[in-house]
Amino acid sequence: MAQTLTETAGSLEAMTPVPYAVTAKRQDTYDTWTLELEPVDGAPIVPGPGQFNMLYAFGVGEVPISNAGNFETDERLVHTIRAVGSVTKALCAAEIGTVIGVRGPFGNTWPIVEAKGKDVVIVAGGIGLPPLRPAIYHVLKNRKDYGRFALLYGARTPADLLFLDEVKSWQCNYDVDLDMTVDAGDTDWKGKVGLVTKLIPPAEFDVDDARAFVVGPEIMMKFVAQELMNRDLPAESINVSLERTMRCGVGLCGHCQIGPTLICRDGACYTWDKVEKLLAVKEL
Ligand SMILES: Cc1cc2nc3c(=O)[nH]c(=O)nc-3n(C[C@H](O)[C@H](O)[C@H](O)COP(=O)(O)OP(=O)(O)OC[C@H]3O[C@@H](n4cnc5c(N)ncnc54)[C@H](O)[C@@H]3O)c2cc1C
Repeated sequence: MAQTLTETAGSLEAMTPVPYAVTAKRQDTYDTWTLELEPVDGAPIVPGPGQFNMLYAFGVGEVPISNAGNFETDERLVHTIRAVGSVTKALCAAEIGTVIGVRGPFGNTWPIVEAKGKDVVIVAGGIGLPPLRPAIYHVLKNRKDYGRFALLYGARTPADLLFLDEVKSWQCNYDVDLDMTVDAGDTDWKGKVGLVTKLIPPAEFDVDDARAFVVGPEIMMKFVAQELMNRDLPAESINVSLERTMRCGVGLCGHCQIGPTLICRDGACYTWDKVEKLLAVKEL
């Protein structure tokens, strides 16, 4: 549908970064940090579950980073960032007090409130856990409103597992069926070894009344969705979050287009039936 002039003007306004200061910083793993950000002026706009902000390291560049905090209680932005390239390395190197630019929030939200009354299956691969954390917080806060809650978490190595203490506390305190695995263990690792897909067949949930939320590398999401469908969970009940290079965040530049959809505007959260065929096309 064509945008109205008002919507376009709103989008252009959304192109201006707002200054936020780093007020807390924690190193989560050897390559991943969590930053807490507060606006230099005014109150923060905390993104919903599944939404993202464009974070601008001044003089370096701007990248999309998901909300990793509690959208219902946080009074600051929480972003967990893996240092992979120039911009994410600059963001992870930011000291307390450093000012960075923030645009957003952008994108749609996980349909986690709509999943009330149903079993919830969260499948996270590595840095895929932070974008799912706001939805997890919502289920934990309203635990009685949901059925069974399976959290299946995989990472490349034990050193790549994020928020381990917090994840274990969810298992102890909130009746969460936690199952974890790593692709390759080390001498101290006593848990499972293998791909996260192996955790799906034994997971307990009612396929007729469950919703799955999956974030990880695209290849992982494809195999996880397939494995969930092998359990007869319908594609419409499987939610994924897509990643493509993004520039504007507001559906103007087209960098994140995949087939007929712009991920920044229509996503990044999609049900699997909407994207399965698109992701099957090589290099789309
Ligand atoms: C909606 C959305 C939410 C995201 N949320 C998070 C998050 O919460 N935490 C986080 O650490 N990262 C997140 N990312 C990925 C993050 O945006 C990229 O890691 C970042 O853009 C890399 O920029 P760079 O300049 O540091 O690295 P670059 O030099 O641009 O890239 C370094 C490497 O990462 C790859 N890469 C770059 N961008 C992407 C991308 N979008 N998807 C897959 N691979 C990419 C490149 O191909 C290259 O191999 C998200 C991406 C999207 C689209």
